[in-house]
Amino acid sequence: MAKPLHIAIDGPAAGGKTTVARALARRLQLLYLDTGAMYRALAYLALHTGTEVDNGPALRRLCEEDGIRVWLDPEAPLGFRIFAAGAELTDAMLQSPEVTAIVSTIAAHPAVREAMVAKQRALANGSGIVMAGRDIGTIVLPDARVKIFLTATVAARVERRREQLEGSGVHASLARLTEEIGERDRLDRNRAVAPLVPASDAHVIDSSDLSVKQVVDAVIAIVERTVA
Ligand code: C5P
Repeated sequence: MAKPLHIAIDGPAAGGKTTVARALARRLQLLYLDTGAMYRALAYLALHTGTEVDNGPALRRLCEEDGIRVWLDPEAPLGFRIFAAGAELTDAMLQSPEVTAIVSTIAAHPAVREAMVAKQRALANGSGIVMAGRDIGTIVLPDARVKIFLTATVAARVERRREQLEGSGVHASLARLTEEIGERDRLDRNRAVAPLVPASDAHVIDSSDLSVKQVVDAVIAIVERTVA
């Protein structure tokens, strides 16, 4: 039997990964997972349990013991459902400024990443899936048939993030978003484990001047060339 199609979409914060990955999954009838939501769910749980962001072993324990659970459900509002300690999280909860402020610190712990990567691989096992994140093509699914690294200028990403947040009912100034994205880029690119870099076999697409449809079409063309 042919191996299920795995597509990895990586890139820096607010580069349009989740929008493109979800549209792609719909067009190709594949499952979809935004792995950033899993790190955000853990940040949410840490805030609600008073767990220190520096305590890697405690954070790992929070995410195991069924602390963070994901159901892949294309019909759900996010394209999947995510639960923290049994409670389903909404996009507004995941995207809150409090969660965003600590998520990259939490995601830098090797123990946390080990637990998350194991969950992500289990979710992809045996199913065709489009997975968005920072380390999907390099670490989580290194054998993915198609790997895309989606970049865009900071200005374009700040504008997209603002639109995305407005959609979730969260308001933020451009100055604050520029600072937040710059800081998350710095943390994600410089961490010791699984730093944000394109896989050596990734197709790099700069989406600054492209619409979502243009990016999705470009990725579909790459998928068709690769899978043909
Ligand atoms: O994609 P999003 O911006 O929601 O991700 C939130 C944070 O989660 C990122 O800034 C990064 O620190 C972390 N992350 C990660 N690895 C992934 C996905 C997200 O470290 N695969």
